[in-house]
Amino acid sequence: MKLTIIGCAGSFPGPDSSASCYLLQHDGTSILLDLGNGSLGSLARHIDPFEVSAVALSHLHIDHCADVASLYVGRKWQPDGPLPPIPVAGPEGVGDRMANIYGLPLDVGMKEQFDFIDYDHAPVEFGPFMITPFLVNHCVVSYGLRVEAGGRTLVFSGDTGACQNLIDNSVGADLALYEASYLSRRENPPDMHLTGKEAAELANAAGVKRLILTHLVAWYDSEEVLAEAMGLFSGDVELAKPGMVVEI
Ligand SMILES: [Zn+2]
Ligand SMILES: [Zn+2]
Repeated sequence: MKLTIIGCAGSFPGPDSSASCYLLQHDGTSILLDLGNGSLGSLARHIDPFEVSAVALSHLHIDHCADVASLYVGRKWQPDGPLPPIPVAGPEGVGDRMANIYGLPLDVGMKEQFDFIDYDHAPVEFGPFMITPFLVNHCVVSYGLRVEAGGRTLVFSGDTGACQNLIDNSVGADLALYEASYLSRRENPPDMHLTGKEAAELANAAGVKRLILTHLVAWYDSEEVLAEAMGLFSGDVELAKPGMVVEI
């Protein structure tokens, strides 16, 4: 399974990165985890965005889903006619949420461009990828995503504060792609995001060998986030960067 970091900025696009978006490829199939604001353009540096065959959203905050609306425009208004729908999976109500983003009537919405799937905690299969959504600890309904393909496993935290469910669903993963939005030295809102320290502690508790920190917010120094985790994490840890490719 090949992971390409498309966007790793947290909460809003930063000067060096779009918001949340990760391209996963295996056996000729390309899917996305999240499609946050600004990410569709960055994606086009790595793949024709219209070759992506499915999208799995962690949750419905703008920095994780806004560019579904951009993909909608691109698929609908192709010069040779609209492209067939692809699946877009997300929390309950994802189809209505996307319609609202674009000001579309709910009865039509984006249903001709996307087959929306509401998570019900069962795995979702996109070609060779099996994605198991699990609830995490955020200010809205938010999922972590455990992705398995070709015998390898990636766990993406989505947006979350510390929670046991993230540990439980990360056990045995080859790579943890965890958010690290906050700095420990600051007073942070509870049940919202992780610090670099917390990300390291959770990945240690799950026995994960490799950790990539993402959802890096532009107003903090990411190197400080990384330094918190490096002192604690027992395996390899690094910061996500746009364009970074990881063979899992
Ligand atoms: Zn976010
Ligand atoms: Zn969020």
